[in-house]
Amino acid sequence: MLLLRRRQGLLRHERNGVLAYNAALLAGNTMRLLLPRVLVMDTFCTIAITIIFFVYMNPHLFIDQRRIGYNKRGLRLLLSEALEKDDLHVMGMAIKNYQQERVVVGGTRVDRTIESIYAWITQSFSHIVLFYLGSGRFAMTGGGNIDWEDIHQRIRERFEKPWQTEGSTLHLGVRFVNINETSGLDSANSIINTLLLALERAGQDSSTTFGACQDTLSIGEVYEQVMMTHMLERVLKNHEVEVFLQPIVQGASRELVGAEALARIRDEHGSLVPPSLFIPIAEHTGLIDELGAQVLSNVCAFISAHDLHSMGLKWININLSPLQCVQHDMAERFARILEQHGVTPDMIHLEITEQSIIDYSLVENQILQLQEMGFKFSLDDYGTGYSNLVRLSDYPFANIKLDMSLVRSYCNGKGRLLPVTVSGLKSVGYTITAEGIETEEMAENLIDIGADYLQGYLFSRPLPIDEFVRTYTTG
Ligand code: C2E
Ligand code: MG
Ligand code: MG
Repeated sequence: MLLLRRRQGLLRHERNGVLAYNAALLAGNTMRLLLPRVLVMDTFCTIAITIIFFVYMNPHLFIDQRRIGYNKRGLRLLLSEALEKDDLHVMGMAIKNYQQERVVVGGTRVDRTIESIYAWITQSFSHIVLFYLGSGRFAMTGGGNIDWEDIHQRIRERFEKPWQTEGSTLHLGVRFVNINETSGLDSANSIINTLLLALERAGQDSSTTFGACQDTLSIGEVYEQVMMTHMLERVLKNHEVEVFLQPIVQGASRELVGAEALARIRDEHGSLVPPSLFIPIAEHTGLIDELGAQVLSNVCAFISAHDLHSMGLKWININLSPLQCVQHDMAERFARILEQHGVTPDMIHLEITEQSIIDYSLVENQILQLQEMGFKFSLDDYGTGYSNLVRLSDYPFANIKLDMSLVRSYCNGKGRLLPVTVSGLKSVGYTITAEGIETEEMAENLIDIGADYLQGYLFSRPLPIDEFVRTYTTG
């Protein structure tokens, strides 16, 4: 009964083991009832004990397939015990770009090197237990007063030198993940899953090439990301993405001409979560496609339900991640959403941030289709990336939005090149919007150098749609 109740915590082979040894005992008992003279109960008991041994006690279960060392199952057992004693410290370690290394230098060489790394760590630090979790990922743990900082440091130093195995020399990079507080992770399985995810991310990092690692990823950070992914999934599944609108005004007249749609989601307590937290995760997990579709759908519903011209609105800006454009059917999906709401694309401008501008050939197809449909494009956050004008001209931008950092530094007496940049951009036909306008003085400075449109807290913060409508509906 106890096992049945706790079956969720069992692995599949353990559940099968429970079924198998209970079946053996049941068969023994049935035989005893049906044929009391045949003494086979002992045999069935032996079978049950053998099953229990192979399922739970067999030491080979805790050794990884390539026999490099202890495996995930072993770590799980040790973590369960450590959690009970509340004495947990796990250090994860990932070989950087493991899969690429296998392709570039060959699987056998990498495997041999992994074996020698395992051997070196176990010999150098006899007081810790080392596990190999596959794909270049390790975990180490141990009780008592272990100087993890020292271990970390010595492994890093070792990785600055090449690994030599049977005549081959390999330079490998390494990154670490530390768990010393479980930050809400309450079972061995959830710790291992989060650790694997963290190690996967750490291992894909390309910031340094060889040897020393730059930093250590905290498990708390990864846990936050996992929770944020769950939250996003929930919000998207329930179609609960909200859109706030921030006005964009004409420079000279200060009249409302447009608005930027900004995505908002709420956590389970109803508090707003800022896009800086969920947009990067949406992009990383591919949820950005659905998020973008729901934002567009909300904006289209707003456009079709209100008389935008009476508010003075000539267009609505929507942020578009180039990662959405990598999807081959994105333009069709957008077209379907517009059709559902009976909205035409001429009212919608798509903003792409300068930092996220990627190789145009990857997104060209979808951008061209969107342009043919009648969408216009704005370059967002100009001044935060490294794009040059030649590269910008690949994209069909009609408008450039100066990032608030650029606007601020100009208003603080720096950024002397901004006036010539603006007039240069205008001379080739771009219109200019200045973002982050918070004071009258900033507004005047930017109008003086030729900004056509202004956006910022001076005019309004982003507002929920109904509040925006109430504020800007005249009469
Ligand atoms: P963004 O597109 O550059 O949007 C402008 C951001 O600046 C908004 O932040 C806005 O609230 C803020 N802002 C506007 N005026 C002022 C000001 O005067 N002072 C200051 N300090 N801030 C101002 P928010 O809403 O937090 O959005 C952050 C970023 O998240 C956006 O930057 C955009 O890149 C991204 N984002 C938002 N919604 C979406 C979306 O639906 N899809 C995609 N792909 N990205 C989105
Ligand atoms: Mg924007
Ligand atoms: Mg911006």
